Amino acid sequence: MKIAVDGPAGAGKSSIAKLVAKKMNYVYVDTGAMFRAMAYFFFQNGVDVENEALVNENCDKIDIRLQYEDGEQKILLNGEDVSSVIRQEQIGKNASVVARYGAIRTKLLELQRKIASEKDVIMDGRDIGTVVLPDAETKIYLTASSRVRAERRYKELRDRGEDCDLDAIEQDIIARDEQDMNREIAPLRQAEDAVLVDSSDLTIPQVVDAIIEIAKKKESENHN
Ligand code: C5P
Repeated sequence: MKIAVDGPAGAGKSSIAKLVAKKMNYVYVDTGAMFRAMAYFFFQNGVDVENEALVNENCDKIDIRLQYEDGEQKILLNGEDVSSVIRQEQIGKNASVVARYGAIRTKLLELQRKIASEKDVIMDGRDIGTVVLPDAETKIYLTASSRVRAERRYKELRDRGEDCDLDAIEQDIIARDEQDMNREIAPLRQAEDAVLVDSSDLTIPQVVDAIIEIAKKKESENHN
């Protein structure tokens, strides 16, 4: 069984998918982390992410792997655990820039499909239901208003002791949505057969329960 969860930045996809995975005994796969790890490589090596030809040339130097420790996904970039460092705001922005390029997407698509072919997965990203796993039994499009997403992000950063500005965060979120929705290859959009879940006024446990209910229903439909 495969569950695809797509949606814009900050909709809570990863926190929610992680909890669903635990409750349903699925493997959680965070594909955003793969794009972030690629972006981190370019950042570390001084490769200008706006330069597509240069990015493409460097693609072969990158090896991305996922490892699981106590059900937690760890992402390895050329053997180094980069799970925490890729969470920086700038890396997220750069990930969205390189995610426009065909060479990057092709490389990661192979890895994503391979993982999904081996296990029951809940995979989150932008193009999982539309491109990566078009045959996923359950597809969710998880969204929330840009203001709510910005408020959640603001709280997260403040809790970590970081200084930040709510309006600037919202502007960044809107810009990232624009870029992800309007690129040529695998843009962010709701798959025709995806269920729309708007989490603006829902708590995390409510969204988790809603997704599990949708997945169980699909599971029983498939058995009949
Ligand atoms: O979800 P996260 O913020 O970690 O993703 C970082 C960026 O990676 C996204 O803004 C998007 O451009 C890209 N991405 C993608 N396709 C995916 C997952 C992420 O294009 N399946």
